[in-house]
Amino acid sequence: MTTRIEDTRAAGLGLAPCWSCKGPVASQALFCHTCGAIQPPGQADHFRRLGVEPAFDIDLDVIEKRYLGFQRAIHPDRFAAKPAKERALAEAQAVSLNEAYETLKDPLRRAAYLLGLKGLGAAIDKDETMRDPELLMEAMEAREALGEAGSVAAVEALQVKAGADALNILSELAKAFARDDLPLANRLTTKLKYLRKYLEETRARRVALEQN
Ligand SMILES: [Zn+2]
Repeated sequence: MTTRIEDTRAAGLGLAPCWSCKGPVASQALFCHTCGAIQPPGQADHFRRLGVEPAFDIDLDVIEKRYLGFQRAIHPDRFAAKPAKERALAEAQAVSLNEAYETLKDPLRRAAYLLGLKGLGAAIDKDETMRDPELLMEAMEAREALGEAGSVAAVEALQVKAGADALNILSELAKAFARDDLPLANRLTTKLKYLRKYLEETRARRVALEQN
């Protein structure tokens, strides 16, 4: 649904007219300062929706506090007696806030989303592993080691190593984004995506061994 308010927001203006009283509202405000009416979610990216500048290195405590505060402000109980339009806007705000929070709190999703904002959209959806010989080789060796792991202890050792690798990648990823080295950030994001899949496989392998 496109309305004039959405258009004004999409144009990147700081102020938009309130749908109810037509007074000016800051484009990210949940409520109109003049009449108190809840506002539509608008077109903000996930970072700005939660009040931070787009970056990989964000303070998750700040994000969580802000998210919980916003969720309280738009809780359905507060809108039970309001007109249908305001109930619908509160619901729309809740959906947008949930999506923003779920994306930002997961480092892999946050990295992929940030790459998208920086113009490397959908890079994460393609399987980059196949185009990167070094990564492909690492992936094959890891799978082979997992296939050969014949005991729970052996799988556990692989899990510990993969977990440590994932932590290293996160730290490298933060540095790559801080330097705005997007090709490297893209590669590390692909690597992290692969590692996460691999960790799932190790868990499945462990369950299979435990059942024997
Ligand atoms: Zn208003």
